[in-house]
Amino acid sequence: MISKDILKEFQDVVGAANSSTDDAVMYVYGFDVSDVSGKPDIVVRPSTTGEIAGIVRICAREKMPVIPRGAATGATGGAVAPTGGVIVDLTRMTKIVLLDLPNLQVVVQPGVVIDRLNQYLKPHKFFYPVIPGSDAMATIGGVVANDASGMRAFKYGTAKDYLLGATVVMPDGSVVPMGCKALKNVAGLDLLRLFAGSEGTLGIMAEFRLKIMPLPPAKAVLAAYFDDLETAGKAVIQTYQAGIIPSAIEILDKSALEVVKIYKPQTGVHVAEAMLLFEFEGNKEFLKFQAEKTNDVLDALKVKDRQFSLDPKEADKLWSARSTIGAATSVLKEGYNRVYEGEDICVPLTEMPKTLMKVRELRDKHNIGCVIFGHISIGSLHPAITIRKSDQGDWKAMKEMADEIHEWAIQVGGTVTGEHGIGVARKEYMARMYPEAYEIMKKIKRALDPDNIMNPGKIF
Ligand SMILES: Cc1cc2nc3c(=O)[nH]c(=O)nc-3n(C[C@H](O)[C@H](O)[C@H](O)COP(=O)(O)OP(=O)(O)OC[C@H]3O[C@@H](n4cnc5c(N)ncnc54)[C@H](O)[C@@H]3O)c2cc1C
Repeated sequence: MISKDILKEFQDVVGAANSSTDDAVMYVYGFDVSDVSGKPDIVVRPSTTGEIAGIVRICAREKMPVIPRGAATGATGGAVAPTGGVIVDLTRMTKIVLLDLPNLQVVVQPGVVIDRLNQYLKPHKFFYPVIPGSDAMATIGGVVANDASGMRAFKYGTAKDYLLGATVVMPDGSVVPMGCKALKNVAGLDLLRLFAGSEGTLGIMAEFRLKIMPLPPAKAVLAAYFDDLETAGKAVIQTYQAGIIPSAIEILDKSALEVVKIYKPQTGVHVAEAMLLFEFEGNKEFLKFQAEKTNDVLDALKVKDRQFSLDPKEADKLWSARSTIGAATSVLKEGYNRVYEGEDICVPLTEMPKTLMKVRELRDKHNIGCVIFGHISIGSLHPAITIRKSDQGDWKAMKEMADEIHEWAIQVGGTVTGEHGIGVARKEYMARMYPEAYEIMKKIKRALDPDNIMNPGKIF
C-alpha cells in the first residue's frame, strides 16, 4: 500500500497520467506468460532516463521493490511483482535515438519493439539479428535483460553479443554509462555482459547502443521429414561436420506438425515423426551449394522426403510452420492448454537425440500433452506441456514432468534455460546448476543492491 505522500512523489516524477494504483490496472500488470502472478502497489510509466532515476531514488529511500517491465512476454515471472512494489513500465520509451550505419550501430530506448527496429533498419539493408519468436511484442529492454536469442542464435549469437553500450540506472538511482562506440572493447571487467541476462536484478537499462548487421542478399528453406526423432537429432551435428552453417535449424516433432496442420494447413508441410527446417543465407549460388551439401547428409541418413525453396514466398510459407507453433500448441488436444514450465532446456548437441526421446518418454509416463519443437541448431528445446488447467492431477503431473526435464538437462551437462531465463519459475535450480558459482553471483547482487530492491525474488 502506497501512502498519499509517496504517490504524490511518483506523480511529480512521471506525471499523474503515467502513474496508477487503480486495482484493475494492478490486476492487468499482475501477469506475464508464466503461471507466476502478483499485484504491484503502483505502476509508473517513465519517458526519460532522468524519470527512471527519479523513481528509483524514491524506491531506494523507501526500500521498495522495483520491477522493470517491457512487453511482459517473459515466461518466468520476471516482470511480475509477486511481493508487491513498483512496476516500472518502460513501453513509453520507444525512441530510436541514433542510426550510425558506417559504424554498424544504433542507439535505442528500452521500449523499442524488436520487429519495429528491424522494420526501421530494413530499407537501409541492415538488421538486428536477435530475433526471438516474440519479436512482434518483445522490447529491447526485455531482450537484453534476458539475454534473449532465438532461431538464429547458432550463427548470430545472443543479445549480449550485440550490446556495445548501455546507460544503466543503478539501485541507488545513480546513472551509469557503460561500454563505448568501438565494435571491440576489452577495457576492464565486462559489465555489459553482467547486465545482459541479469533479468532486471541489478539495475534498469535505460538506453542501448547495439551492433547491427548487413541483411543477407537472399534466403532459402529446406524441410526434411524423418521417420524417427533420434535421427533428426543426429542430422544437425552431421550438417556442421559437412562444413555447413545454416542460419537456423528448427525441429518440429510429430505433435508439432499435427498442430501446424490443424492451425495453419496452408503452410504446405505434412506430418511425419519429425521435421527439420533448415534456413540458408547468401546469394543464389551459395544457397544452392549449402542445400546440396545438406542433401548429401540427408541422403546418407536415408531421409528422402524433402521440400526445398529458393522462392522467397514459398520459403516464407514453409518457415511459417515454425513460427506458428508457439501460439498454437493448445489446439492439439481439446481442453488442454499450454503452461510455460520445463519449456526451455538447452543441451550439448551430442545429447540431443537422447533428449528428444527422453521428453517423449516423460510425456507418455505422465499422460499429459507435450508438443516438442525448438532451436535444435544450438541444442535448445521447447517442450510445450499442455494440461487441463482445472485438473489438479494434471498440474501435479506437469510439475513432476517439468522437474524431470530440468533434472535431465542438468545431468547431461546442459542448462534449465537456454534463453527464457530464471525469474521466479526456475530459481530452485540455480544452486543445483552452480553449487559454487551461485554464491559469487549472490555476492555481486549484494554489492550492487545491498537492500535487495531491484526485482527481488528473481534469480536470487
Ligand atoms: C510466443 C513467445 C515466443 C518467445 N520466443 C522466444 C525466443 O525465441 N527466444 C527467447 O529468448 N525468448 C522468447 N520468448 C520469451 C520472451 O519473449 C523474451 O524473454 C523477451 O526477451 C522478453 O521481452 P519483454 O519485453 O516481453 O520483457 P519482459 O517480459 O517485460 O521482461 C523480461 C525480464 O527483463 C526485465 N527487464 C525488462 N526491461 C528491462 C530493462 N529496460 N532493464 C532491466 N531489466 C528489464 C524484467 O524485469 C524481466 O525480468 C518468447 C515468448 C513468447 C510469449
